[in-house]
Amino acid sequence: MLATPRREINVAVPLRRDDGTTELFHGFRVQHNVSRGPGKGGLRYHPSVDIDEVRALAMLMTWKCAVVELPYGGAKGGVGITPGEYSQDELERVTRRYTSEIMPVIGPERDIMAPDMGTNEQTMAWVMDTYSVSQGYTIPAVVTGKPLAVGGSLGRPTATSRGVVHVTQAALVEAGHDLRGATIAVQGFGKVGAHAASIFAAEGARVIAVSDEHGGITNPTGLDVQRLVDHVAETGTVQGFDASDPIDNEALLALDVDVLVPAAVDGVLNSSTAPSVRARFVVEGANGPTTADGDRILAEKGTVVVPDILANAGGVVVSYFEWVQANQAYWWTLAEIEEKLGGRMRSAYEDVAGLARREGVTLRDAALAIGVRRVAEAHQIRGLYP
Ligand code: GLU
Repeated sequence: MLATPRREINVAVPLRRDDGTTELFHGFRVQHNVSRGPGKGGLRYHPSVDIDEVRALAMLMTWKCAVVELPYGGAKGGVGITPGEYSQDELERVTRRYTSEIMPVIGPERDIMAPDMGTNEQTMAWVMDTYSVSQGYTIPAVVTGKPLAVGGSLGRPTATSRGVVHVTQAALVEAGHDLRGATIAVQGFGKVGAHAASIFAAEGARVIAVSDEHGGITNPTGLDVQRLVDHVAETGTVQGFDASDPIDNEALLALDVDVLVPAAVDGVLNSSTAPSVRARFVVEGANGPTTADGDRILAEKGTVVVPDILANAGGVVVSYFEWVQANQAYWWTLAEIEEKLGGRMRSAYEDVAGLARREGVTLRDAALAIGVRRVAEAHQIRGLYP
């Protein structure tokens, strides 16, 4: 059962373009597991989206939710589209049509979406509106990662990144180091990477390189991340930032830093790039940034890899808080949310690191073992029906 998705839905998503022509996209929603609670996971808009990618990401969500002890299963959705090539109106139509097509399988007690690559708060507002209109009343808990104005949670936009920083700190402290003064390279300057770089800098770490899809920049004495965020808002890329030198992606991954944070696409640490990694710690902000070969190479070198299902779980943790708040119709303060997030990330890290120490295994194997055990236990206790 754990190797096989519980339910998959495959939908055609036709779009009437602004110029009157029509185009067809393929959409998917996979509920990998729902034994611990409703399906939970993001909605991805990316040209690489296909059923296999969505299945793999849905399975990661199952283990991720279990590792941070959320009462959820794992799910993922996606549409094979390049969002940058479509207008906002077109994206709204795609989102509403996709939502209508998968309507029978989603809901606040069934399967709850959130943003992922290529989607954002606005996308979630459209999903929530489409679902609510179909039911005849407002149902904020059907999605998380919504805008604050329609029942989003304080702290959700920065939650994944804050979680990345919490586990980085825990891993450094365990190894006798400190986050203050640690050198960091961040690959990807999107929803996860940009906030992570800002929070690392605010915590006194030295962010010496960042990159985005156009290229990277480095400054060995530390980048002024606050000014860099303004630069990206103005120009759309990290490139051309003053007081920095250009660096390509391969070179960024091979920098001699304390912590490397891959926070972009999957598969970047692989058999060709992993051998040149010099970072002592790799903290996976992205989902699946390390291939199986890459993982073996890093383990052999003694690089500590904090795996995605632990490292980037802060996002789904605050998604859970958002869902709880929506169900209670009672909103928490930012301080309450940050404190609860920190507590959950630290205790999940302790569970995983403790098992890794006791069993002499990597953090990835320990995290997977904990995730799989918790889900397997739910299956065994519930029993097989009929
Ligand atoms: N897309 C994010 C992830 O991969 C968040 C999922 C969620 O909050 O449900 O973890």
